Amino acid sequence: MSLSLDRSKLAVVTDVVIVGAGPCGLFQVFELGLLGLKAELVDSLSQIGGQCTELYPDKPIYDIPAIPVCTARELIERLQEQIKPFNPGYHLGQEVTEVSARADGRFDVATSRGTRFDAGAVIVAGGVGSFQPRRLSVEGSERHEGHSIHYRVKDAASFHDRDLVIFGGGDSALDWTLELIERARSIVLVHRRAEFRGAPASVERMKALVEEGRLDFIEGQVQSIVEQDEKLTGVRVTARDGVTRTIATDQVLVFWGLSPKLGPIAEWGLTIHRRTIPVDTHRFQTNIPGIYAVGDINDYPGKKKLILSGFHEAALAAFAVKEHMRPGEKIHLQYTTTSPLLQKRLGVTGEAGDGAAGDAGARHRA
Ligand code: FAD
Repeated sequence: MSLSLDRSKLAVVTDVVIVGAGPCGLFQVFELGLLGLKAELVDSLSQIGGQCTELYPDKPIYDIPAIPVCTARELIERLQEQIKPFNPGYHLGQEVTEVSARADGRFDVATSRGTRFDAGAVIVAGGVGSFQPRRLSVEGSERHEGHSIHYRVKDAASFHDRDLVIFGGGDSALDWTLELIERARSIVLVHRRAEFRGAPASVERMKALVEEGRLDFIEGQVQSIVEQDEKLTGVRVTARDGVTRTIATDQVLVFWGLSPKLGPIAEWGLTIHRRTIPVDTHRFQTNIPGIYAVGDINDYPGKKKLILSGFHEAALAAFAVKEHMRPGEKIHLQYTTTSPLLQKRLGVTGEAGDGAAGDAGARHRA
């Protein structure tokens, strides 16, 4: 658990940092909120929802209690609505890289973007790991990442009037090709097959552009990059006919999808077994007191990687966190139906509850 935090940034002081904003991380906010605990959500993806949003947003889910059917996207929208009263902080597009226990029992947490937290507890809801773009596996490509080789579009305007090569055959590759075709000087789309995974309408539009001579398409694979004076000047692509040609470009966009990596979670001193974190089944605590794990990432006898299992785990983990942060304090089980305190925290009666601010609230410390 090494710590090399950027001390120049103020740390967000909070009750709990939740690593992962998938369905279980989101519901964790709710269960903590009912107990008056404030949470900050961090996810390496730029959107919430984990696998639901990233892998199957439009597929129907049939096994969420009391919701006979909804799409994965709808489930995430409903969860976001449900946790609104507890006003969680969202820190998206950044990976939690460091978690370190302090002598006073609290945790220093840091992300890849330099966001820092001072948290009473940490709940790992990291699913199958943090989603990372599949990268070009050609020598030297990492040197150009972020300048000439891109795995996501941060600023579309930076590609205007440029010669672009776009790799991929899914929605992202097609959407950006269609988006940039009017503004780029030229685009060459490269995909290893003639079949595309993107929406049929996008595929049709792309093919029409190729026929009109406004877009080049190569069915082929990247071989290497071309550099001059340490700058990227082109890529070599071998087409299906076996001919390798060099395409002059200094801007390459790669959309080969995302793959989950356990990544930094494995470096925080947690016991890891087959890419999962063993926990007990009454608190969902890991081998480090104060760090809990819920959802797909945890493991215990009988574990089922289902959303509803994660919801149950989140409820028990919230009680355990409360106990950890207020040792010896009696925690009463209350019903949302009848408890004035819970209803106050939910903001459904009287003033918005003290729970909305949390025990710690969201403060900053140097
Ligand atoms: P995830 O949804 O995996 O979210 C974890 C999040 O943590 C990710 O967004 C990831 O980016 C983030 N993360 C990880 N590490 C870090 C880090 N270090 N820093 C920042 N962020 C990090 N389940 C059902 O119950 N019913 C179904 O019908 C169903 N259908 C499915 C269909 C498909 C095609 C798939 C793939 C799964 C399906 N599942 C279903 C399983 C369900 O999606 C998972 O059980 C659920 O998503 C687990 O939720 P989670 O919150 O634990 O993790």
